Amino acid sequence: MSRFFSEKYASLVPYTPGEQPKDRKFIKLNTNESPFPPSEKAIAYARQASEGLQLYSDPECRALTEKMAETLGVDFDEVLMTNGSDEILNFAFMAFCDKDHGAVFPDITYGFYPVFAEINGVPYKEIPLKDDFTIGISDYFALGKTIFIANPNAPTGIALSRDEIEEIVKKNPDSVVVIDEAYVDFGGESAVPLICKYDNLLVTGTFSKSRSMAGARLGFGVGNRELIRDLNTVKYSTNPYNVNAMTQAAGLGTLHDAAYTKENCRTVCETREYTKNALSSLGFTQTESRTNFLFASHPKFPGDSLYTLLRENGILIRHFKNPRICDYNRITVGSREEMETLIKTITKLLEEK
Ligand code: PMP
Repeated sequence: MSRFFSEKYASLVPYTPGEQPKDRKFIKLNTNESPFPPSEKAIAYARQASEGLQLYSDPECRALTEKMAETLGVDFDEVLMTNGSDEILNFAFMAFCDKDHGAVFPDITYGFYPVFAEINGVPYKEIPLKDDFTIGISDYFALGKTIFIANPNAPTGIALSRDEIEEIVKKNPDSVVVIDEAYVDFGGESAVPLICKYDNLLVTGTFSKSRSMAGARLGFGVGNRELIRDLNTVKYSTNPYNVNAMTQAAGLGTLHDAAYTKENCRTVCETREYTKNALSSLGFTQTESRTNFLFASHPKFPGDSLYTLLRENGILIRHFKNPRICDYNRITVGSREEMETLIKTITKLLEEK
């Protein structure tokens, strides 16, 4: 730390992103990226947009936002496009939390929530998941705080139904409930249809997973127009050109190629079921994943030993040190070939035990 670093950030522990090694070729099953390339339309649109990069990007993201709104079945002013969904989540912490109105989220969830809370000086409370890693919805009733729930949750992969989300939203009429739907396209039930009924619901989404655009950084928020207006106030006070022109174009191309995204999601779900069954046969315990990853533990591979052994064999998965889940690993669903290699490698490691 330099002697100039602001005191208010002195104790900040930053979020640790999954490894992106460049030194050696790994089968990368550690950051929940898509195994498929972006849509050809995304690439073509982005290429065309690259010819106009001397100009600032459209701060309104007009064409993209219109198409996103149409896709979601909502109005233009109920959507805000952002630089990854991390940005809309940060905006939500900035807009809807403060010292008197803290944040709550599960004890096991997306690791960025506590970091967003810290950097924005927001007090927060972590509510323990139940022993089976599910969210007890009544734990979130009438809390008087801004609620952040990833649905499906990460890294557990477990989803709440739309009715359960509605119960939480209904029981907190004076607080914003943020539902982070980064993984919803792999079998979750979106809460977007509820935004016309509740003025306190913000749903966030991403182009990083089902839409194969993690490297372009594109996310969005959907909610009542008053909420979106507040988020725009934060956006225009921090980074008006938050989504660059090539990403806006790529996003539009992707939305114009919805069949491609749908087919990729179908394939990922099929590969997930193949992998899940194969891992179960090898003795793994797993949660009921509605995402593009599996959350698995094995009695013969305590702690991070599976992570380390797979790394030595050229396969990267994600291990978390949190004591409640340190026996588990999160494994992204890659291509069928990648998952077959994973299963073969684990079979070999078990034989060597
Ligand atoms: N929410 C959850 C639950 C995630 O796992 C991620 C991915 N790390 C994000 C949000 C952020 O994704 P992105 O910023 O790439 O849209």
